[in-house]
Amino acid sequence: MKIEKIEVTVFKSTSKKVNDTDGHTHPGPEHEVEEAVLAITDDEGNSGYSFGSPEALRPYIIENFVKKVFLGEDPLDREKLWINLAKWQRGSGANLTDRSLAISEMALWDLVGRAQNTSVWKMLGGYRDKVLAYGSTMCGDEINGGLATPEDYGNFAEWMVKRGYKAIKLHTWMPPVSWAPSVKMDIKACAAVREAVGQDFPLMLDANHWYSRMEALELGKGIQELGYYWYEEPMDEHSTESYRWLASQLDIPIIGPEYAYGKHHTRAEWIASKACDIVRVGVADVGGIGPSIKCAHLAESFNMDCEVHGGGPGNLAVIGGISNTTWYERGLLHPFIDYDEIPNHLNRIIDPMDGDGYIPMPDLPGLGEDINFDYIDDHIASRH
Ligand code: MG
Repeated sequence: MKIEKIEVTVFKSTSKKVNDTDGHTHPGPEHEVEEAVLAITDDEGNSGYSFGSPEALRPYIIENFVKKVFLGEDPLDREKLWINLAKWQRGSGANLTDRSLAISEMALWDLVGRAQNTSVWKMLGGYRDKVLAYGSTMCGDEINGGLATPEDYGNFAEWMVKRGYKAIKLHTWMPPVSWAPSVKMDIKACAAVREAVGQDFPLMLDANHWYSRMEALELGKGIQELGYYWYEEPMDEHSTESYRWLASQLDIPIIGPEYAYGKHHTRAEWIASKACDIVRVGVADVGGIGPSIKCAHLAESFNMDCEVHGGGPGNLAVIGGISNTTWYERGLLHPFIDYDEIPNHLNRIIDPMDGDGYIPMPDLPGLGEDINFDYIDDHIASRH
C-alpha cells in the first residue's frame, strides 16, 4: 500500500450554533457554515476520511506538511508518519497545530480500517463494545430559559436524567456573560444540580479556566462538599505547579491536563508532579489517536484513569481500545439544541445513546462514520 492522493473538500453546511466573543459555543439561529473533509487514498483504491475545519486543513498545511510527509508512504506505518509530521510542528511557525496533526492521522486510521474491514476501536485493543456517556452542558449564558440561572441548570439536569444520562458535567458561566466568572454562582449551579439528581449521581465540573489559585481553591472546596466526582481546568493549565498546589489541598479528584500543549510529555509531567488524580486526553488536544493511546497507557502504568475529552469518532475509538476509562463526553448539550439531530454530512450520528445511557462502539469499519457522500458532492465550495 502506498499513499497516492491527498485531497481536501470544503463543503457548505448549516449550523444552529454560534460562538461568543470568547469562543464558547451557544445556541443560535440556523446559518450557513463551511466544513471540510480530508481524503487520503492509496494505490489500491482504499480511502480514509477525517472531518475538520477548512482552516485546519487549508492548502498551506496540506501542501507544505501533510503531502510532504505522507505521499508515497505506506499508510500502515502510522507511528512513523505521525512522528515525522509532528516533527514539522517545531519549524512550522506554529502553523501546523495538534488539531491539523490529529485530523491527518485519523484519516490514516480510517483508511487502514476500511481497507482491512475492521473498526479502529478493535485495532486499538477492542476493550469494550459500549461505554456510558456523561451529558456535558454548554457554558452558561444569558438566554431566557437556557442556562442562565442555577435553576436552569437544575431543570436541565432533571431532563438529562430522564433522557438516560448516568452522569453530568457542567460548564458554568464565563465571560462575556456580563457578571461572570463568579465562584459563588458556580457553586450555586452545582448545588442546584446536586439537588435535582440526588446524592449518589456522578457529577463533574468544568468551570471558568482562568481563576486564580485562591478562587480555584474556594470553588474546589465548594463542590467537594457537594460530592462532585471530578474537578476540571479551573486555572490556566500551563502552570503545572498551580495544579500541584491545588491537588495537595483538595480531596476531590483533579483531572487534567486537557488544553495544555505538549501531548504525552505534558501528561507525564503532570503525573510526576502530582498535579492530577485522573489524566485527561483528547485526540484534538494531543495530535491524534496514536498519542492519545500513549497517554492512556502512561496513565495505566501509574494505576490512573484516563478520561477522554470530547466526542466524535476518534475519541470514541480510543475509549473502545483502552481499559482505564469510564465515560464518553456527549455534548455539548443545551435545552435549545437537539444533540441527536443528524449533521448534513452523515447518514447517522456516531454516538447514539440508548435509554440506559450507553453508546455502542461503531459497527462500520475504520472510524465508523456513516458519511453522506452525496450531500458533500452536492455542496462543494472548493477542493484542494
Ligand atoms: Mg474540559
